[in-house]
Amino acid sequence: MTHEKQLPPGVILQRDGKTFAARITPPSGRISAQDLEKMAELVRTYEVPAVKLTSGQRIGFYGLSRENVNALCEAMPFRTGGHYVQACPGTDWCKFATQDAMGLAQTLEEKFGSLPTSAKIKLGISGCTFCCAESRVRDIGFIGTPKGWRMFVGGNSGMKPRIGEELAKELSTQKALGLCQKFLDLYCEMAPAKQRTSRFVKKMGIQSLKERLGLNL
Ligand code: SF4
Repeated sequence: MTHEKQLPPGVILQRDGKTFAARITPPSGRISAQDLEKMAELVRTYEVPAVKLTSGQRIGFYGLSRENVNALCEAMPFRTGGHYVQACPGTDWCKFATQDAMGLAQTLEEKFGSLPTSAKIKLGISGCTFCCAESRVRDIGFIGTPKGWRMFVGGNSGMKPRIGEELAKELSTQKALGLCQKFLDLYCEMAPAKQRTSRFVKKMGIQSLKERLGLNL
C-alpha cells in the first residue's frame, strides 16, 4: 500500500480527475518584485500549465501533478488555503480613500487568515464607499468613511447572493479589529459546521446579533 503525502490546505483536484490546483493568498493582495521572481521561477521549475488571478485577489496555479503541487506549495512565498482578505489600495494610493484598507487587511489576515471556523470566511476591505473590494457581498466587510469603518456581516456573492448587513459604524481600526474578533468568536461558537455567515446572520437576525455582541446597550 502506498502512502501518498497529504495535500496542502486549499489544494483541489481538477476536472480531469488527476491534476491539482493550488491558490496562494498574498496578504491584502500586495506582491513584491522578489515574490514575483520567486513565483516565476517556480512556474518554470514545475512547468505549471496555467496561472490565473482569481476573483478574490489570489493567484491560482493549475494542472499540477500531486508531487509537483506539494513541492510548489512548500516553496511558495505565500500560504495556500485559509480565509482570504480582499482589499483595495486605500489611503496608500487611492485619491478617494478615507481609510487604510491595506493596513486593516494585513492585520486581519495575520490575526484571522488561518483561524479554524465553521466554514470559510471571505473578507472585503474598501477604503471608501465606492466599495471596490466588494465588502457588501463578503462574510465580513469593512468600508472606510471619514468618521471610521462601517462593518458588514453575512454577505455572499455565491449561489444565493446576499447583501451583508451593517453591524456597526464609525469604528476606529482598533475597534474594528475587536468587533471582528467578537463576531468570529460568536460565529465559531454557534454556527454548525459548513454554515456560512450569510445563513448564520440571516437565521439569528441582525438585531439579535447586535444584542449578543453588546452593540445595542
Ligand atoms: S474603494 Fe474607494 S479607496 Fe478603495 S480603490 Fe475604490 S475608490 Fe479607491
